[in-house]
Amino acid sequence: MAQQKIKAAGMYAEQPLKQVYQQFKTSAAGLSSHEAQTRLTTYGPNTIQRGQRQSQFKLFIKNFTSLMALLLWVSGVIALFAGMLELAIAIWAVNLINGCFSFWQEHAAQKATDSLRQMLPAYTQVLRDGQQQRIDAAELVPGDIFTIQAGNSISADARLLSATGLQVDESALTGESVPESKTVAYQPGDGKFAETNIVYAGTMAASGNAQAVALNTGMATEFGQIAQLTQNQRPNISPLQKELNHLTQQISLLAILVGVLFFILAIFFVHYPVAKSFIFALGMIVAFIPEGLLPTVTLSLAQGVQRMAKKHALVKDLASVETLGETTVICSDKTGTLTQNQMTVNHIWLPSREYTVSGQGYVNNGQIENYTFGQAADLDLLLQISVLNNNTTVKAPASAGQQAKILGTPTEAALIILAEKAQLDLPSLQAKLPRQQEFPFDSERKRMTTIHRDHGQTVAYVKGALDGLLAISTTILDHGQVRPLTAADQQNILAADKQFAAKGLRSLAMAYRKLDAQAASDQASVEQQLTFVGLTVMADPPRPEIYAAVAKCHAANIRIIMVTGDSALTAKSIATKIGITSDQARVVTGTELAQMSDADLKTALSAELIFARVAPEQKYRVVTMLQSMGEVVASTGDGVNDAPALKKADIGVAMGMTGTDVAKDAADMILTDDNFASIVAAIEEGRTVYSNIQKFLLYILNSNLPEAAPSVVFLFSRGFVPLPLTVMQILTVDLGTDMLPALGLGAERSEPGIMEQPPRAHNAHLLNRRIIWKAFGWYGLIAAILSTGGYFVTNHLNGWPQAALAASGFDYRQATTMTLATIIFCQIAAALNCRTQRSSVLKVGLFSNRKIIGGIIFEVFLLFALMYIPELQVIFNTAPLRGGEWLYLLAIPIPLVLIEEARKYGLRRHAAADR
Ligand code: ATP
Repeated sequence: MAQQKIKAAGMYAEQPLKQVYQQFKTSAAGLSSHEAQTRLTTYGPNTIQRGQRQSQFKLFIKNFTSLMALLLWVSGVIALFAGMLELAIAIWAVNLINGCFSFWQEHAAQKATDSLRQMLPAYTQVLRDGQQQRIDAAELVPGDIFTIQAGNSISADARLLSATGLQVDESALTGESVPESKTVAYQPGDGKFAETNIVYAGTMAASGNAQAVALNTGMATEFGQIAQLTQNQRPNISPLQKELNHLTQQISLLAILVGVLFFILAIFFVHYPVAKSFIFALGMIVAFIPEGLLPTVTLSLAQGVQRMAKKHALVKDLASVETLGETTVICSDKTGTLTQNQMTVNHIWLPSREYTVSGQGYVNNGQIENYTFGQAADLDLLLQISVLNNNTTVKAPASAGQQAKILGTPTEAALIILAEKAQLDLPSLQAKLPRQQEFPFDSERKRMTTIHRDHGQTVAYVKGALDGLLAISTTILDHGQVRPLTAADQQNILAADKQFAAKGLRSLAMAYRKLDAQAASDQASVEQQLTFVGLTVMADPPRPEIYAAVAKCHAANIRIIMVTGDSALTAKSIATKIGITSDQARVVTGTELAQMSDADLKTALSAELIFARVAPEQKYRVVTMLQSMGEVVASTGDGVNDAPALKKADIGVAMGMTGTDVAKDAADMILTDDNFASIVAAIEEGRTVYSNIQKFLLYILNSNLPEAAPSVVFLFSRGFVPLPLTVMQILTVDLGTDMLPALGLGAERSEPGIMEQPPRAHNAHLLNRRIIWKAFGWYGLIAAILSTGGYFVTNHLNGWPQAALAASGFDYRQATTMTLATIIFCQIAAALNCRTQRSSVLKVGLFSNRKIIGGIIFEVFLLFALMYIPELQVIFNTAPLRGGEWLYLLAIPIPLVLIEEARKYGLRRHAAADR
């Protein structure tokens, strides 16, 4: 089809459908795959292209205009005017390298988060070559006939061909969050996008289902047009990044104050020239400003996000990474998250008799004991309801060993397979009893009804949760006869259900009702006075990895609360089996929950408990109450009605495979494998990232004191002791040698035992007392003593104070080199020590973090270069050291690491004794 001039979808609303088909060269049978492929090249992919969030150039420049960078530019100018050309060039060069490095970090972080977006393609069900197919929504083309289902986003601007109870949330386009009813019949409605028979890309089907013909796709849709106008999206800044920003600002302010003070003291106390005093003060400022911190944190968070994605947890923004580490409670649904969502009917219960069913999975590999379709009227009817009240298709695997493809839900797929086992001929049954109407399943009613013509009669087939269905049944089919449903029957049915539920099995009830053709056909009047037929009983085993994941949560003091739509007994049986609760746990049903006061709910939540038969809306209340109790809550969900709870939770978790687009949209994290264990893996990763950030914060702060101490010595000796560490040398440590090991600490793997500690407090500060104490009162202090000491040792070897010690000359340069080298070797020890908080670094493997080892090798190389390359010696005020001094340097890390190892050993012993 040649590309026609694109018209807004609304223009097709009033045209007869036939004309629309003609214009799009399509029909109710859809396109052929070949034609769709051709159109894809003509119209391009059905995707919305958003612009770059921030121009790369702006991002690049930003790194050269920070407070620190500006200070360095100005200092270079001052150095230049003071006649120190080499220093000026060196300061600028270092500033340039540092800016490029920060830019690279930010760029890498952005690339990491951007790549996640491509990992979650949206799917659409289309009719091509006369067959229903699931395709990547990006491949949808104008003229395609596609299906719209409750909870899913609408993939293109389209005209409706059929619709059952379709309500569309158009807030993405109109801002109006009350869903609009959409029907096949045209009505103009009020305002833009209000035509009743047109649906728009980017909006969501809140309920019902429909078929539609795609009119416009991709950037030609109304949503695409709007997205084009509003390209600029501000990136979200996580609380951690905000805290760091704040911290950096505060420290920088403090550094500048100290700098000004040192500047004044240098002029008046040491009688230093102004320009030299300025450069001297600059050294102090550079020493204290934690310049590399923010980009390193951003990269570290982004790398965390990438590692989570590999473990099947897609996090939408960086803030969630840190919240995950704080999670104290997980509210999890059961089906598919804790269990495999591999439904197999293995039992059928009828009032007249029970049947066992053999075989497993979504293939016809078994049979219903002594039965094929047509042999027993009661069971025939049960199967008939199972397959006709069903919107799922199961595509047999193409070859042995492959999985069957399910278009629909696992529960309904199990029913299709059940009928196949009885050799039921589905197409001829569908032709014999055509469907007239449907009241779709919703998790509030927990049932679904379809209405069919049966030999001139109208009949309603109902399937759903037993408790609800029994309440609206008045008769029972027993031995082919319909008779009133007695209390004894009810007890009988419930007792059978209880038996199955106690084994963790799920029963689904089937019922029917003969309808008067003229009778009202609204849902409430159809779903009453039913005739109960029987139960299908399904097994859905727990996921094998769930046991370990639950145990991990318990060790990590994370509570799991099962919140399921399934029955109380099934829920409890599964919860106990996988170790979420003991068998003493209280089960609160949705009905009980609705009647509970807030105070009662609070009390209930303080003990072991399971929520069963709850409506998704009730999850919202549970989450809210837990939060009011100070918990940090992760909550799972997959349906449309789960969205409020997902939004409310600190971490909303949607299911990537079975979840609706509405749920995915509301969530903070999407599980690509729907697996509870992936939440636990993400929490572990969240904890790791936070602890890594603390590790490199500690590492960066470590060098502050040894960098500042020489200036203090110089100042308080009134210049008698020449400056033991020059400004260029401070820059070398801060913007040179410290960078790579810090980066390596950000990529450190989870420390053993990280999931054996309680979650960190919600309001805990990144820079806590422990870190301050360690950085300044311990590591930093030792490094300050050793490095300034090193300076004096070299001076002593050179004959000072007897020999004159000019603040230039070889001896002086050798002494400052010693200070610099000692700081670097102390930092080598610190890099190794900071890798773990409690575990022995030898146990996690001294060489297991290649980035750190690489960083250390780089540090040593750089030091070598500075010492032995004559040009660099001039700029950095360095000189070669003697063998004895090298021995001193090489020996430094050994006791420092050993002392720290001893401390960690004590810590572990102490923790073991506490247990
Ligand atoms: P969870 O909330 O843990 O995912 P669930 O799948 O049982 O568990 P819902 O999807 O809310 O929760 O379903 C609730 C109940 O509704 C089920 O236990 C079942 O009895 C019934 N049900 C589920 N799917 C269908 C369906 N397609 N048609 C009719 N009834 C259904």
